[in-house]
Amino acid sequence: MDPRKMPHEFNTQTLLLLQELDEQFIAHQRRVEASTGEAHPCVPGCAACCYGPFDVSRSDLLLLLEAVSGLETGLRRAVLERIRDAAARQRAVLDLDARDPVELDAIGEEAFDAMCDALADAPCPFLDEVSQTCVAHAMRPQPCRLRGAQWALEGDVLDFSCPIDLTEGHPVVSTDVLDLNDRLARLEVRAHVEGLPADRTTIALGLDRLLRTGAG
Ligand code: SF4
Ligand code: SF4
Repeated sequence: MDPRKMPHEFNTQTLLLLQELDEQFIAHQRRVEASTGEAHPCVPGCAACCYGPFDVSRSDLLLLLEAVSGLETGLRRAVLERIRDAAARQRAVLDLDARDPVELDAIGEEAFDAMCDALADAPCPFLDEVSQTCVAHAMRPQPCRLRGAQWALEGDVLDFSCPIDLTEGHPVVSTDVLDLNDRLARLEVRAHVEGLPADRTTIALGLDRLLRTGAG
């Protein structure tokens, strides 16, 4: 299916699932503020976690694709250019041709992680570097919604790499992230969109592929 004709229904269902995460995160922020007496640091203007590539799901890519199409013309052009540039830099580090597979499992975790480390200072294409805010905030990927907390997962505590130390006095969020991931994955198998990578990849590599193949 041409992404430009993709029904918004798919993203609506994804957003309903992500909303559960947002609600738990907001409740977590309130608990942190009550226990530490200080504001939780995830506020507009904090964007330290918006530098450096990371992997996102196919659902995340579809949300961001819709976000791009909803931007006003000037900003859309700027974001599209930043996506192209970021994808080119990532491919250069990975030694990939423009047509090579961009999925994490094809690239290999070791090479993927090394590329993420090498480009750790590179801003996300959706970051407004002046205001340090996300221009696609309502449609941001799942990892962006998880970073400001430690989440319990089958007895382990997952820390989603916030560059700021969020451990002291911050309770762990007790939720079944795995169950949410399963429900998102079940939804995701229905996404047949031309150019959509078959598995997880970065925002820039995934959107660049999607836009060039499907909506280019
Ligand atoms: S999508 Fe938005 S929140 Fe996520 S890394 Fe990019 S700028 Fe930050
Ligand atoms: S996760 Fe960390 S870096 Fe990202 S907004 Fe929250 S406090 Fe800032």
